[in-house]
Amino acid sequence: MTAQGFWIILEPEIVTVVSLTCYGGVNEIGGNKVLLEDGEVRLFFDFGLPFAHRSRYYEEYLNPRASWGLLDLLEVGLLPPLNGIYRQDLTLPDLWDRFSSSPHYRELHIDGVLLSHAHLDHSGYISFLDRDIPVYTTAMTSVMAKAIQDSAKGDFEKEVCYAIPKEDKKGARAAIRYNKAAAQQRPFRVLDCGAWSGELGHFWEDTPGRRSLEACPLETAVSIGPLPLRCFPVDHSIPGATALAVATGRGWVVYTGDLRLHGGRGQQTEAFIHQAAQLRPVILICEGTSVDDETCPVTEDGVYSNALKAIREAKGLVIADFGPRNVERLLTFRRIAQEIGRYLVVTAKDAYLLRAMHYLDPEVPDMGGDPVIRVYQELKADHDHWEQDILARFRDKLVKAEEVGRCQDDHILCFSFFDINELPSIRPQEGSLYLYSSSEPHNEEQRLDFYRLHQWLEHFRMRGIGLPREELGWKVPQAEQGLHASGHATGPELLKLIKEINPEILIPIHTENPGYFATNLEGTGIRVHLPRYGEQITLP
Ligand SMILES: [Zn+2]
Repeated sequence: MTAQGFWIILEPEIVTVVSLTCYGGVNEIGGNKVLLEDGEVRLFFDFGLPFAHRSRYYEEYLNPRASWGLLDLLEVGLLPPLNGIYRQDLTLPDLWDRFSSSPHYRELHIDGVLLSHAHLDHSGYISFLDRDIPVYTTAMTSVMAKAIQDSAKGDFEKEVCYAIPKEDKKGARAAIRYNKAAAQQRPFRVLDCGAWSGELGHFWEDTPGRRSLEACPLETAVSIGPLPLRCFPVDHSIPGATALAVATGRGWVVYTGDLRLHGGRGQQTEAFIHQAAQLRPVILICEGTSVDDETCPVTEDGVYSNALKAIREAKGLVIADFGPRNVERLLTFRRIAQEIGRYLVVTAKDAYLLRAMHYLDPEVPDMGGDPVIRVYQELKADHDHWEQDILARFRDKLVKAEEVGRCQDDHILCFSFFDINELPSIRPQEGSLYLYSSSEPHNEEQRLDFYRLHQWLEHFRMRGIGLPREELGWKVPQAEQGLHASGHATGPELLKLIKEINPEILIPIHTENPGYFATNLEGTGIRVHLPRYGEQITLP
């Protein structure tokens, strides 16, 4: 009672809880799935395929069974048991009875996924999310997601851009016949640009094969529900990579995705650091793939000069083997090819990707008019729809095995290990060069691939350079290093980045050594929270 005899009724303060929960990327590289909840708004930062976890159960010829929908993936923990976020057509009738007692089970509805880039360890398991859930990302990542899926073999773990509808067939989940149901494109919301050419729109809505596409036009977005969003393009080993930020009721939450400073777009990462610092974020979720790397990384320019030197001296055929979708590296080899007067021969898959990317980025060569790039035409009785399109479109750029074999000094072939079975029809001359420009193997399966690659090179008496060797514990010989620039910042670079952004709390993710951050940020005033799988972290 007040002096005047009236009660003052205090409105109870509505306190919305803001929290983060990591369902992937915890003590592992890749598979990021970070749930952000702010009141009624719920979103994921990335929804990736956890390669290391997957390879503990599966390999090339042992895979989750598509006919059982989500079952296998939930059983071995590749997907978190979150009832309400997944595709209905992959959900068996009694599925959730089986998982409702598992420790991390909960019912959940989400408003979107914020996708940092098109590497499958960040994007792959979007394939299993309900088809109506929007994906917020850059225009380049959207386009790459479509190009990658269009040109891939059908695989239910890789339906990132559009879903192939499944139905019940004798109790099994089976793809509905191509002429009975269209593929269903997910809603993609573009965060970084609102102007794209009509050709891009056409590509986006173009049918990928025999099955038609129920297209969902690209739209722009600046927020998710009431929460403002920001994206900051960063340098990584794939174009279109971005860091992301969400303005929550408790302040900005910033997510780095994967990044580095030593590539051709290092200044973008610098700009991100500067702008993220101005947001004074409460939380920074930071990747830590290469924290144990202390040495100054090889730059993309370094790769250019080292590879140029090796290729200039080469006699016969040159094969350049680099990571798929590493378009920056492809352009490095294009520059080298031009300089030494060879053609750069790309696979039809690469040509398809480059053509799509050119609509958005004029720095990606226009395949039609480029004097250096040619397209390798594999001998096949039948070509897929997308491949037919490339072969028709670039008719005057095609080169077959026989011609490469005849004029070996004229070509640099962009091949990976999985194209090596083309060599019997090319017959590389003795002493031809195989230049490896990618990362060292991480697991037994990859080591076996290198073992086979060495056999092939020995068979044709080719010279390998930059190749990991068994006798060195599958490391690259010291004298041959410098032909690959990693996609990730080193430990000291990440510590500098974190100190400059200066969040209240740091959450390390996408790393096998999260403790590195706790040890090295002691005394800086930045609290390091080491996430545990499924643990809800409430923001202060
Ligand atoms: Zn990546």
